[in-house]
Amino acid sequence: MGRTYLFECPKCGYRAKVAGGTERGVHFAVQTVLCHECKELHDAVTAWKPVVPGLTAMSGGSAQLKAARKPLPAAPSFLAALNRLPPTGTKRLKWVHFKPACPVSARHRIREWQSPDKCPKCGCFLEGNAIPFRIWD
Ligand SMILES: [Zn+2]
Ligand SMILES: [Zn+2]
Repeated sequence: MGRTYLFECPKCGYRAKVAGGTERGVHFAVQTVLCHECKELHDAVTAWKPVVPGLTAMSGGSAQLKAARKPLPAAPSFLAALNRLPPTGTKRLKWVHFKPACPVSARHRIREWQSPDKCPKCGCFLEGNAIPFRIWD
């Protein structure tokens, strides 16, 4: 189970909906990163468990399995990962791991961000909401 929190800057009003560190669900894991180029917090997908739709142990489907096992060119975005929750009867594959990267561009310089940590705009400490904004699998 992963959780997304709303963080707010008391000084400049910057708001971000991020995990605030590492969170791992059933299908993917994220790491909150601060991008020095975007001056934003992002949730970078660091691990991802691909699923093969409609593939069961009995039906075979080796072509589908092969396609799903092909390495992804880049980590999926948080929303893409969130929207890809599998229907029932799908086969789960192994975890694929990614280096945390900015979802806007993998060439941006980032650092890992772990709450309590600073605002990417003004450097003030962000205030995290105690109640998760969103809970995902
Ligand atoms: Zn700020
Ligand atoms: Zn960036």
